Amino acid sequence: MSRVRALRDVGARGEVAVIGLGASGRAAARLLARAGAAVYASDAGKADAVAQSAAALGADGIAAEAGRHDLARIGRAGMVVVSPGVPPDAPPLVAARAAGVPVISEVELALRALPGVPYVGVTGTNGKTTTTALIAHLLRALGHETVEAGNIGTPLADVALTAWGDADLREAGAAMAGHRPDWMALELSSFQLHDTPSVAPTVAVLTNLAPDHLDRYASLEAYYGDKDRLFANAAAGSTRVVNADDAEVLRRTAGVPGTARTFSLRDPAADAWYDAANRRLMLAGEPLLDRALLPLLGDHNVANALAAALAVWWAHPAHRTADARRRLAEGLTGFRAIKHRLEPVGEIGGVLWINDSKATNIGAARVALEGMTRPTILLLGGRHKGEPYTAMLDAVRDHAKVVLAFGEAAPLIEADLAAHVPLERLGSSFEQVIARARALAAPGDVVLLAPACSSYDMFKNYEDRGATFRRLALGS
Ligand code: ADP
Repeated sequence: MSRVRALRDVGARGEVAVIGLGASGRAAARLLARAGAAVYASDAGKADAVAQSAAALGADGIAAEAGRHDLARIGRAGMVVVSPGVPPDAPPLVAARAAGVPVISEVELALRALPGVPYVGVTGTNGKTTTTALIAHLLRALGHETVEAGNIGTPLADVALTAWGDADLREAGAAMAGHRPDWMALELSSFQLHDTPSVAPTVAVLTNLAPDHLDRYASLEAYYGDKDRLFANAAAGSTRVVNADDAEVLRRTAGVPGTARTFSLRDPAADAWYDAANRRLMLAGEPLLDRALLPLLGDHNVANALAAALAVWWAHPAHRTADARRRLAEGLTGFRAIKHRLEPVGEIGGVLWINDSKATNIGAARVALEGMTRPTILLLGGRHKGEPYTAMLDAVRDHAKVVLAFGEAAPLIEADLAAHVPLERLGSSFEQVIARARALAAPGDVVLLAPACSSYDMFKNYEDRGATFRRLALGS
């Protein structure tokens, strides 16, 4: 089926309602319009950026509304396309489902527009972005033109728009005008997977499972259930890469058709594993790389690197050669920490400041702490997400010199941890938090922002929190 026809079918039943006017919703609306569908895009948000987004679409002749959703209009739509940040119980989605309107994700729409482009799909609770970026980096190291897309930042619908070129797709032949990548590394959140029924990656990667989003999911089972959807179309010939150290991952994927390739931080029987005694990453029975050459902090990043190398290794037979192994090793050596993910910000007066603002849940903050080799002043706090902080008590005891609890969650953190570890409860001034950290830090210490909470009580988002940390830490 041609790409144009694939999307014409989406618009065939009438207007398509796009929910959310962020980058993904905007790209989805444009993609649909280019395929000739009638579109109504809306977002309940009242922020300037949302209004500007609606105006930009409007200027292109696409019906777009900021500040409200016309639920009746959405109920009459032939199809709804939902942006990634929108939870399944958001009012427009409830209205659509009540009216029997099919709902698909922006990723589903874009996948339909990119038939035949192979991709590695990555999900899990933590390490998705790092693993996805590593996979794209390694595919490039093997000479493939590769895009990284999805939850990692670039909407897949944008990739589809580029692949299609700028021409109006209603004109015959225009679908070939653009530029298709050889490969895609696609990060998929649980919300994105919820409405992506045709997901069928060449290799499916599940990094790990841990409680998260308990503020947005009715149950842990519902959250994990959405992660399972990465394997919805797995068949006998499918390949999955799974974490052999994670019992829940193994349990949930045991019955998935196809072949499991495993990675582990300790098990020599795994297809890729970390030989800690010799400080070496191993792949398919042979050494891949010395740990010292992987420029990322923490064992969890060794796990991410193993998962990525293994996924690329199994993505194509041409990737399983001695030359490919050498290039994979070179690729890993040249990879750098992604912003806000255990990103060293600077060493000032012998104190290393590390920005792990993306550690927005307990599991992520725990592994960040475990990766510390120096006495650590831990900045913990923000908007509480539902999990008890006692789950990270051992790591705090082993690595933290003191915990500075801040933001809305500070009283809860204090209640959970203060009896067991040195802790100071602060308020919601981040300047004061940083000033206190600076006062407490001695040469040789680390100040680690791994907040285990969302940022929304004090910041626009985790990027804003990380950038503020950097600015205040560097005193600039
Ligand atoms: P995600 O995209 O799943 O949020 P990221 O790669 O952005 O994952 O990493 C977010 C944070 O999660 C990191 O800053 C780190 O603290 C933690 N993290 C990264 N990889 C792992 C992993 N494999 N296991 C546990 N925690 C991890």
